[in-house]
Amino acid sequence: MTLRLFNTLSGQLDPLTPSDGKTLRMYACGPTVYDYGHIGNFRTFLQIDVLRRFLRLAGMEVRHVMNITDVDDKIIRNAAAAGVPIGAYTAKYEQAFFEDLEALRVERPEQIARATEHIPRMVELVERLAEKGAAYRTEDGSWYFRLAAFPAYGKLSKKDLSGMEDGARVDVDEYEKDSARDFALWKAAKPGETSWETSIGRGRPGWHIECSAMAMTYLGESFDLHAGGEDLMFPHHENEIAQSETATGKQFARHWMHVRFLLVDGRKMSKSEGNFYTLRDLLLKGYKASAIRLALISVPYGRQLNFTFDGLIEATNAIERLRTFRARLTDGAFAAGENPVLQAAAKQASVDYREALADDLNTAGARAPVFELVRSANTAMDQGQLFIRDRDAILAVLKDFDAVFDVIEDRDAEPTRRALAWAEQAGRMGDVAPELLARQSITDEQVDALLAERVQAKKQRNFARADAIRNELTQKGIVIEDSKDGVRWKRR
Ligand code: AMP
Ligand code: ZN
Repeated sequence: MTLRLFNTLSGQLDPLTPSDGKTLRMYACGPTVYDYGHIGNFRTFLQIDVLRRFLRLAGMEVRHVMNITDVDDKIIRNAAAAGVPIGAYTAKYEQAFFEDLEALRVERPEQIARATEHIPRMVELVERLAEKGAAYRTEDGSWYFRLAAFPAYGKLSKKDLSGMEDGARVDVDEYEKDSARDFALWKAAKPGETSWETSIGRGRPGWHIECSAMAMTYLGESFDLHAGGEDLMFPHHENEIAQSETATGKQFARHWMHVRFLLVDGRKMSKSEGNFYTLRDLLLKGYKASAIRLALISVPYGRQLNFTFDGLIEATNAIERLRTFRARLTDGAFAAGENPVLQAAAKQASVDYREALADDLNTAGARAPVFELVRSANTAMDQGQLFIRDRDAILAVLKDFDAVFDVIEDRDAEPTRRALAWAEQAGRMGDVAPELLARQSITDEQVDALLAERVQAKKQRNFARADAIRNELTQKGIVIEDSKDGVRWKRR
């Protein structure tokens, strides 16, 4: 099954295949570790996780490289303000970033590359550009890329750059279209700033050269896919292409994927707008990590997603439905045989699910047939029309679903527990939702013990005690379900 993925460079859906016939080599721009990431950042990493998981489900091998930007203007500024070396400053946020990825069940890329550990590769690239006359040094010792050396500049973002000023320079990493101009490859050391002594002088790399150098180090001069959030298309990715292709004379990445923004009230979620939530904020409000994952991936990467709490509640309920359904299948006793209608439904759901994902990672379209199958299987179970072979066929569909969506398996307790431990030491206990605190106040063993006592109380016709136990558990967020096979409970 071949994935047809929108390619920003060609402007159309292109099949995504490994150029070596075996391993898909991809690079995704990682975080700048100067603060906790917000869920907009994580939406991009989650959608890239959907991509790599689908490629693997389709039988491909993946070599995924992600950088960590651990030196830049903001980091230098914040570390200086905190009075610590940049390495000590970034280590904390890098660790937090990986903890958050783990909570969201984002698979770790095969290769993590820190900018500060690849300075010689960046210097080499600047030297290569200088040899070709595409990089020049300014009086202060900084190096710039000469835009005029790359006539194809603008081919990714399709911006009309005709009004561009020849020879004008910009040294900040992020800038607007109308200031497209020669950009900094290497910034000369300023007093007190972190810098490296190198053959092109003392200084530090610009942001764009980091990604070019690290991508080519691990994936070769030409590779299959480059991905990032939509804001990176210009100037960051445009600059990566210009530097890399000028240096090598080869196509840099064949395929470019850009994840559309997470919005709040129609505006980009961002630090500067102040309209952001971190993962920790949401966990402390009592939302489960799995629900946050599902809410952020259910709208396909190519569409902007407006963040709402209703969306999180919808995701919470959807996951609950899936988990309850799967427990019903795995715990129930079914007769041998099969129901041809369900067999056909399971087969169709499996095909529709994969086809939707293969069509530009249409996650919304992929969810629908799975939930449809849950509905018909529940009805069949109610009527005693679901048999062992049906159960197996349906469990196989759920397994494929979780290979990409990864929300059915309940591993939500740990991220919440860790967020609470973090809140404790970060002085954020005031932000913890009261229901969450109540819920945390009882262990699984305590629930089991109370339920056993409740069974005894009922046997002895002590209904007052039985009701008191139920009330206590309800207050602590425990939902009890009495059924003919005994009592089941779960946390709300
Ligand atoms: P940063 O740490 O700021 O370099 O961003 C990390 C990643 O998050 C980049 O790929 C950005 O494009 C992406 N990103 C930033 N804001 C948003 C947003 N509101 N929605 C989706 N992705 C975003
Ligand atoms: Zn990058």
